[in-house]
Amino acid sequence: MRAKILDVRLGVSDEALREAATVLREGGLVVFPTETVYGLGANALDGKAVLRIFEAKGRPADNPLIVHVAEASGAKRVAFVSELGHLLMERFWPGPLTLVMPACPVVPTSVTAGLSTVAVRMPAQPVALELIRLAGVPVAAPSANLSGRPSPTDARAVEEDLGDRVEMILDGGPTQVGVESTVLDITGEKAALLRPGGVSIEALEEFLGYRPILPGAEEAVDRRSPGTRYRHYAPRVPLFLREDESVWEKVETWDPSQRAYVGIRSPGASFAFVHLFPDVESYARGLFSALRELERSGACVIVADWPGEARVGLALRDRLKRASGGSYMPE
Ligand code: AMP
Ligand code: MG
Repeated sequence: MRAKILDVRLGVSDEALREAATVLREGGLVVFPTETVYGLGANALDGKAVLRIFEAKGRPADNPLIVHVAEASGAKRVAFVSELGHLLMERFWPGPLTLVMPACPVVPTSVTAGLSTVAVRMPAQPVALELIRLAGVPVAAPSANLSGRPSPTDARAVEEDLGDRVEMILDGGPTQVGVESTVLDITGEKAALLRPGGVSIEALEEFLGYRPILPGAEEAVDRRSPGTRYRHYAPRVPLFLREDESVWEKVETWDPSQRAYVGIRSPGASFAFVHLFPDVESYARGLFSALRELERSGACVIVADWPGEARVGLALRDRLKRASGGSYMPE
């Protein structure tokens, strides 16, 4: 099977979206743009369709999926929404905030990976919203990459990974945020951050009136995001972080023609491939496609700049650390 690619960059064509919605309703897979990264969608209420997502990505079955809805009221079809849940939706939806809430029984166990909770979000992307609305069902969608690879932020990256594994790809151009959503567990007394993402911890703290429990904190032992256990976002060539002091010794041993650098500050050493961004937001937006591009360009090793934690920097640190094979615990 070769995916049908529909260009939806110049606005939302009703016909293209209706066709995509039909594929979803009939149990097929449709890749669609969101403001964070591209999503690999299936009808979230159809357990068989959802299993195809895991197959296509090579995703471990114990890593649950985010359910996408087109309006806040859609969350009630799949989750028990608390007062706090309503307030957070009112403030942050549509947008890159995923809420983990108690799951309704209609949600297949393949979506929740057998947990009693479900993750839900409403994306801020007109194509995604219209597609979900037309499908008339909640849409389960992880990032549209092969498991472990950098998340796709344009249609080319999707095609590279999944071009022969899905029915349809909606090409909406490059995504706005570039890193995935923030995942916030609101099932406990205090909200817990499971994964940093597009909504900053500063914004959450201001809204909640307290700092959410952070991953790695003592109180967080039973509040975990299963997906954050896995090596993720990794390019095919080794990636080193600039915060690691031994990196410059390593750089010396590589031929300059093989070295690639990505980040905000200039590298201060000779690199054949240099990808610079003006600020932390554009670094986040461009990181994953830069990694894929550097890989294609023949670089053998990548050094990545280490941003500050503010704004989207926390999410960026998390992705960079995982891409380098480690895991990041915020301070
Ligand atoms: P992805 O869509 O590939 O970016 O991954 C979705 C993220 O949400 C993963 O890190 C999952 O572990 C996390 N997630 C999804 N559902 C739940 C849940 N019910 N409880 C905790 N984390 C979840
Ligand atoms: Mg992913």
